[in-house]
Amino acid sequence: MPAHPPVSLWMEQLDQPSPPRPALQGSLEVDVAIVGAGYTGLWTAYYLKRLAPELRIAMLEAEYPGFGASGRNGGWLMGNLLGDERLLAGLPAEQRRAAFELLHGIPDEVAQVLAREGIACDYRKGGVLYCAARYPEQEVRLRAWLAALHREGLSEADYRWLTPAELDLQLRVNAPLGAIHSPHCATLQPAKLVQGLAQAVERLGVQLFEQSRVEHWQPGLVRTAQGELRADWLVPAVEGYAAGLPPLGRYQLPVQSLLVATAPLSASQWEAIGLDRGQAFSEFSRQVTYGQRSADDRLVFGARGGYRFGGRLRQDFALNAEEIGLRRYLFGELFPQLRNVEISHAWGGNLGMARRFQPHMLLDRGGRIALAGGYGGEGVGASNLAGRTLADLILGRASTLTEQPWVLGERPLSALKAWEPEPCRWLGYNAIVRSFVHEDRVLANPHSAPWRRTLAARLADCMEGLMR
Ligand SMILES: Cc1cc2nc3c(=O)[nH]c(=O)nc-3n(C[C@H](O)[C@H](O)[C@H](O)COP(=O)(O)OP(=O)(O)OC[C@H]3O[C@@H](n4cnc5c(N)ncnc54)[C@H](O)[C@@H]3O)c2cc1C
Repeated sequence: MPAHPPVSLWMEQLDQPSPPRPALQGSLEVDVAIVGAGYTGLWTAYYLKRLAPELRIAMLEAEYPGFGASGRNGGWLMGNLLGDERLLAGLPAEQRRAAFELLHGIPDEVAQVLAREGIACDYRKGGVLYCAARYPEQEVRLRAWLAALHREGLSEADYRWLTPAELDLQLRVNAPLGAIHSPHCATLQPAKLVQGLAQAVERLGVQLFEQSRVEHWQPGLVRTAQGELRADWLVPAVEGYAAGLPPLGRYQLPVQSLLVATAPLSASQWEAIGLDRGQAFSEFSRQVTYGQRSADDRLVFGARGGYRFGGRLRQDFALNAEEIGLRRYLFGELFPQLRNVEISHAWGGNLGMARRFQPHMLLDRGGRIALAGGYGGEGVGASNLAGRTLADLILGRASTLTEQPWVLGERPLSALKAWEPEPCRWLGYNAIVRSFVHEDRVLANPHSAPWRRTLAARLADCMEGLMR
């Protein structure tokens, strides 16, 4: 019997769920207290211990490792960050190239740790395929993006156009118009990674407490219902759950992403689709789709979820018929032969979005906190980079990692841009997403008049511009 009701296909698939760990009881003094046992907290603990084995580190997790987005995501381990092109655009060419190399190296860095620590999490570095499908405007946007990437100095080796015939060798979608292939991405089984990392940090001497929700924090101190930790440094690694640790909620807002998994498909079904070496894939609409073929031959497919008024967390991820139906429709358009396939699992999670729509990493010396977050749905790889970066910041090591534009360095929390108060956020979010949904409906309808298509796409472009 699993120790906890599984929150995702991935958690359900763990062969041997970790036995529950104790909750924090009483008072404890450590050097670093980490709140949250998802990837950010675990990677930070891991790199800190590797660099400074003598550090006393304790982690407090409200539920259990992987309860958050880390145990629920789509399993794309990307060698980039949300908004990296904007972040790097202003840098001199050489520095920009070095920064891209650092990002592109994330999947390989993770692979090295997996090998060193013996973590088996179905890691496969098959690259990513951003496909133009469903309507011709996807090809136009995709080609424009590729041109922008190449203008930034990235090469064909980083991002390459695939003709429909070339795409066909890797992935067979309905009526393909082409794709961008990038090698800088791997896929994995997210919960196995969390579990493996949790065990690895414990082997290194980190104390991990479950069922230990932090209810109060101040510089040097965190409190749960049953205990308290005194620490030189606090790392709030709670991403989409920041509202529970005021004032962090001003800077990281929860939004949801939702996904479904089919029952395992047959060899002949996969023969018709492809994806035989762990490639991640998406289609290039503004529905933010992402898919992979799991190690046990399911199609796992997700798309943007929602935002709740006031930045409330979504707790119940039993997806309704409409939410499942949208995902079935989207993958069914790509793979018509799967339109009626059995969907065995549907779930979702909360992730953190920063106001600038790009991640941040900082060390607030006055507040004694080191913070990373705002990955916005691209946090599997970003959290590894964040763990390495926060470790260097806490240890006072100047390094290539700490010199990047997403690192605010030694700055107070208030250096981050705060979200607008409600109802502005809710109105803004809904206006933007509605424009995206409207665009998708118009463009996916082959009978839409050209002027309607142009208008819908322009409106969505403008709305997307507001997010910058
Ligand atoms: C459905 C979905 C699909 C996604 N797909 C991808 C993808 O394919 N690729 C990608 O790169 N990114 C993806 N992401 C984003 C990625 O999963 C996250 O960015 C990443 O997992 C964040 O890790 P984290 O450790 O910062 O946060 P989390 O994994 O959310 O961990 C935070 C932890 O903090 C705990 N916590 C919260 N409050 C407290 C408290 N007060 N006290 C103690 N503990 C607390 C929570 O229980 C949780 O375990 C997806 C996210 C979702 C939700």
